Amino acid sequence: GKNGVRTFQPGPDEAFPQPPGHLEVERDLRGALVRGEFVLHYQGQYDVRTQALTGFEALLRWQHPTQGLLPPGEFLGIAEDSQLILPVGAWVLREACGQAAAWQTRAPGLTISVNVSALQFEQPGFLTTVQQALEASGLAPQHLILELTEQAAARHPEATAQQLARLRGLGVQIALDDFGTGQSSLSLLHQLPIDLLKIDRSFLQAAPDPEANRVFIGVMITLAHGLNLLVTAEGVETSQQRALLGELGCDSMQGFLLTRPLPAAEAEGLLMPPAASAPPASLN
Ligand code: C2E
Ligand code: MG
Ligand code: MG
Ligand code: MG
Repeated sequence: GKNGVRTFQPGPDEAFPQPPGHLEVERDLRGALVRGEFVLHYQGQYDVRTQALTGFEALLRWQHPTQGLLPPGEFLGIAEDSQLILPVGAWVLREACGQAAAWQTRAPGLTISVNVSALQFEQPGFLTTVQQALEASGLAPQHLILELTEQAAARHPEATAQQLARLRGLGVQIALDDFGTGQSSLSLLHQLPIDLLKIDRSFLQAAPDPEANRVFIGVMITLAHGLNLLVTAEGVETSQQRALLGELGCDSMQGFLLTRPLPAAEAEGLLMPPAASAPPASLN
């Protein structure tokens, strides 16, 4: 208060407190999958030149019984630590592939990007999980893009490279997510068999020096294209940012300027309307 002075003496537990509710979150998380509380939201990905919708990124949400709709930042860390990310991640793959397969009739070639956590990716059985999601949904492998963050890839670059090669053997595409934020971006690019680079949104946003940002983004695009990779920019919020990506030759983009992540039913509204059915023969 204004006049009061209180001293704070941290006890042994208070010095490094657990994030509030950690145990409660973990307990709730254990039952969330069977209770059907997870949902995927879908954010559109667009061709920078034609502005056409080319795919969606599936983003996990938890419809918590008392706390409302939680973004992944609120529970992913706990899901990783408790290994619950393994069954949850497998569910995400099945759900996203199923949705993308259902949308193919209205948008042939539409891709679905699925985020994969480091722990999930490092499981020997991960390849089988991906294969099963593809088979169960009937989605063609080339329409699935697995996103691995640069940070996750950097944990064990050699093992990562081998796992990526196996996954690409299935025919799926690989994107390196949040590119440019890690400690070893360039050497990773050199080592990893990937298809796509996703430039982290920090390069478009919060510019302390817009000219420096332009240089960084331009160099990353040139580098990626030189390596035969496609480039996606994330976090496009303004038309100036979109114009810059056009100037620099970026391939695709996603961000709030285009669409926010949406529940499946609303995301579906972004697809082309179904082709008008032929008039009944009796009318001819
Ligand atoms: P990410 O893969 O880099 O996903 C992009 C994040 O940026 C999403 O946050 C999205 O909602 C947000 N975003 C998109 N456009 C804009 C924009 O224009 N401006 C701003 N400020 N933000 C934008 P979200 O959904 O909270 O996800 C955060 C992270 O959680 C993701 O980052 C991804 O790493 C992780 N994640 C999401 N879903 C899954 C999942 O199913 N499995 C795993 N393992 N991780 C996931
Ligand atoms: Mg991602
Ligand atoms: Mg990203
Ligand atoms: Mg990111």
